[in-house]
Amino acid sequence: MKQKPSFPAKVEGLSPPKPQSTKSTVHFSTGPKELALDSFALQASGVGLDSTKVRESMVLKLAEQGVQDEMVLHAFSVIERHKFIDTALANQAYEDTSLPIGFGQTISKPNVIGRMIELLRQGKNLMITGKLSRVLEIGTGCGYQAALLGQVSNEVYTVERIQGLYEKAKENLRPMRFPNIHLILGDGMLGFPQGAPYAGIISAAGGEHIPTPWLDQLAVGGRLVAPVMHQNGSQVLVVIDKSENGFKKSFLEPVNFVPLRSGVA
Ligand code: SAH
Repeated sequence: MKQKPSFPAKVEGLSPPKPQSTKSTVHFSTGPKELALDSFALQASGVGLDSTKVRESMVLKLAEQGVQDEMVLHAFSVIERHKFIDTALANQAYEDTSLPIGFGQTISKPNVIGRMIELLRQGKNLMITGKLSRVLEIGTGCGYQAALLGQVSNEVYTVERIQGLYEKAKENLRPMRFPNIHLILGDGMLGFPQGAPYAGIISAAGGEHIPTPWLDQLAVGGRLVAPVMHQNGSQVLVVIDKSENGFKKSFLEPVNFVPLRSGVA
């Protein structure tokens, strides 16, 4: 039976984020645009923790910054970012900022994560009922992006090389009971052949080159989104589409990701 995808992906090429669009596709009927984040700080340190409003505010901001894919925006509205970071930083959880997660690593800005997941979904669309079929994430970190990916994909395989972070992600994700997120401790530069081929591969760490196993493990019709060193010496986002005729590479805007390192630590 062929089901109509509930969230058709938009294939609009690789245009950069639209600056401050006033059009919002988010389905939040009410709510102030600018919510005092201080109120969240107070609640976070107090008893009743209701982060829904601040999250809605973050989602509206993401939409204004150019994230248009409703399924991506919905993922941001349901995944509680503050549950992935230290309580001491909880008051900054919904600001558009990267935050330390320990072991010298950082969780990326929501804006950058949204952009990358949206790009991933704009590929050839190896979708099952509107979701990407299987996705590989390199660099689990605290597990936040994996949780978001879990909302837009059928299966997520996520690889982390630092044992302490792998454990942390496991702890963070366990209470959420997502049945489709698979955590792997290992060197993500080798990909994860057991889950291949992937409709999407996304990396949260940037190297000099795109490792060959990632290209091998990408499905025909699949898309890879990752930070990589450009010839001009700066780190940029690269999008690679795999087809029967080979690979199509597009270099996009500069980014600032932690380095991709080999081996397990
Ligand atoms: N997606 C993460 C971001 C973590 S930062 C989150 O939502 O929190 C990037 C992560 O990539 C770091 O945890 C780092 O340890 C990891 N990393 C770097 N090189 C790697 C490799 N070869 N294999 C797996 N993980 C790697």
